[in-house]
Amino acid sequence: ASTSGLTWGKAPCRFCGTGCGVLVGVKDGKIVATKGDPQAPVNKGLNCIKGYFLSKILYGKDRLTKPLIRKGNRMVEASWDEAMNLIAAKFKESIAKHGPNSVAIYGSGQWTIADGYAAAKLFKGGIGTNNVEANARLCMASAVVGFMTTFGSDEPMGCYDDLDLGDTYILWGANMAECHPVLFSRLIDNRLRNPKVKIVDFGTRFTRTSQMANQYVKFAPQSDLALLNAIAHVIVKEKLYDQGFINKHVVFKKGKEKIGYGLEDKFKFADDPKPMTFEEYQAFLKPYTPEYASKVSGVPAKTIVEIARLYADKSRKVCSLWTMGVNEHSRGSWVNNLIYNVHLLTGKICRPGENPMSLTGQPSACGTAREVGTFTHRLPADMVVTNPEHREKAARIWGVDPHKIPDKPSYHTVEMFRALDRGDIRCMWIQCTNPFQSMPNLNRYRKGARKEGRFIVVSDIYPNRTTEQADVILPTASWVEKEGMWGNAERRTHHFHKLVNAPGEGRSDLAQLIDFAHRMGYGHLFPYKHPEKEIWEEYRKFGEGQGKDLAPYESYVKARGLRWPVVNGKETRWRYVEGHDPYVKAGEGIKFYKNKATNYKAVIWARPYEPPAEIPDKQYPFWLCTGRVLEHWHTATMTGRVMELKRANPNAVCEMHPEDAKRLGIKNRDKVRVSSRRGSVVLTVDLNGRGKSERGNLFVPFFDETKLINELCIDAYCPLSGEPDFKKCAVRVEKA
Ligand code: SF4
Repeated sequence: ASTSGLTWGKAPCRFCGTGCGVLVGVKDGKIVATKGDPQAPVNKGLNCIKGYFLSKILYGKDRLTKPLIRKGNRMVEASWDEAMNLIAAKFKESIAKHGPNSVAIYGSGQWTIADGYAAAKLFKGGIGTNNVEANARLCMASAVVGFMTTFGSDEPMGCYDDLDLGDTYILWGANMAECHPVLFSRLIDNRLRNPKVKIVDFGTRFTRTSQMANQYVKFAPQSDLALLNAIAHVIVKEKLYDQGFINKHVVFKKGKEKIGYGLEDKFKFADDPKPMTFEEYQAFLKPYTPEYASKVSGVPAKTIVEIARLYADKSRKVCSLWTMGVNEHSRGSWVNNLIYNVHLLTGKICRPGENPMSLTGQPSACGTAREVGTFTHRLPADMVVTNPEHREKAARIWGVDPHKIPDKPSYHTVEMFRALDRGDIRCMWIQCTNPFQSMPNLNRYRKGARKEGRFIVVSDIYPNRTTEQADVILPTASWVEKEGMWGNAERRTHHFHKLVNAPGEGRSDLAQLIDFAHRMGYGHLFPYKHPEKEIWEEYRKFGEGQGKDLAPYESYVKARGLRWPVVNGKETRWRYVEGHDPYVKAGEGIKFYKNKATNYKAVIWARPYEPPAEIPDKQYPFWLCTGRVLEHWHTATMTGRVMELKRANPNAVCEMHPEDAKRLGIKNRDKVRVSSRRGSVVLTVDLNGRGKSERGNLFVPFFDETKLINELCIDAYCPLSGEPDFKKCAVRVEKA
């Protein structure tokens, strides 16, 4: 529609994995307004505060508009030709001298699907290196391993409709009220309609979510492993499980225990799974009594029993919800498995309103990073580089020699930045993410990037803590300055049009990659006239007939997103279940059809409690947890340019328990130095904030580029997923 020169187009919100629909107002070639899209099924017209200020993220005064090349300590303007020729020359030189594994690309769950696809095709199928990673490794990799090991296929069986249809919601370490506010409002709406609805919030700090929950259960960091096993213990001991469901749909397995936290370079792991019987699983659970879990977690044994009974209550439809508290965990993959165990024991899965649901952080962590497979070990549609048939299929679709795709993963994200530090990787291209603010143990990786002989390219829209490490900066088109597709947490793929031009000479990540491919001699892999559309049609061949079917491009242009598998034009709300999932035939009921190796059954895993990689001691007596706040998106590169958001939450503060502060003689708003074995930051103490840390715990958000809290974080990671633990490390706090 057009009123006084104002036109409106549809798009998903730029920020989080919720994938709200917005209407974008354009006037005189600029975005001048946004509003919640009333036709968008995810948010039905509602946005959170970040969504309402979307129109302002593109027009910060310091927007990058020209390519910049490092000359000594200065960055000087250059033409696109100069910049791209330099990048191609440096990458070629490195490959010739040190081989293809000396170059890498590090992308993002904020890449469009076409961006990620082009990067994977060029680096894996063209250059011949698996050095392709994305920042989704830092937020969703443990969820991927959880889904793959339990169900043989990534991403949830349920969808957001479960938020409206269930009556019991157990949140595991997820501050939905701030990090998924629109989804949380759906839960609260549900409770307003239905007084039976109960929200239980398991957390290590009292948040706005806890405030709204019916029950807040505080637990000690890492003890979720013991708690979930204890819940299973009670369900088994009291025979509250669904025997019929277990007989039909479940097998039991155990993996390797005590496999380390990846603190040494080149740490190697293997899960080494072995089958077990139900009786053996029962024996595994025996030590996890509510009393034992209570000792580890601080949760009263009585509460553990009550929660187990709540999960098993036949009159209740139970959903579990989680996000970074579970995933950014040195045993994140295990915690994902343990949540599924409880749903599989009780048979509360694959039914409307009864599902485990992993929430996503970024707008296309699912659509791009996970579905396209922009990880070192992955290929599109859940395929992996280690499988010769998968490499063969990818090579066929890409039109390359299958031998070109290396058969071994190289480095996951933490290892990739360690390889850069050591000099095994020389050239790295970073697109659409800010790792030199967001990596854990940041000091090591910031220093590594500036070592002699490293060449860093950064594509971004504003100067940030990563562009300051760059040898070349490429000004980049953002969000609706380009056409694209993203996939949200409920398997919904959205399309957005280009509505305005990028300021100055900004070009999309995709255009930059295709230009680079031509200069590197791989132009034949990108022969497209309309790249976004043609890449989509090529990409969707990967998922066809695999339970990951996507619709033709034009269907998404019209729709407010579609949830895959999309077969015969129909989206799927619940996977693996007859009547909803086109892959399950009449009479089959529930079928985990992606798990061929277990005869289409899901896996209950025996995963033990293990203490974390670092525990508070005399020298560093506090736990530090990091995370997000409502007003800012990740490292605030965009939201920090919006005056209203910046004013609402200008700087990161250190949240601590008032009694801890009193003991240390610290008053509200005092300056404190928080230090770990890896770094130290001065912060203002906040004793009256919206979040309340438990005694012995601190919380500091990571959005503030003037206070690099990630310098303190440990770079221990889950050995199955490679995802680092941003939620706990040992620190001390003293008056600054
Ligand atoms: Fe919706 Fe997330 Fe955007 Fe807020 S930030 S409007 S919750 S997509």
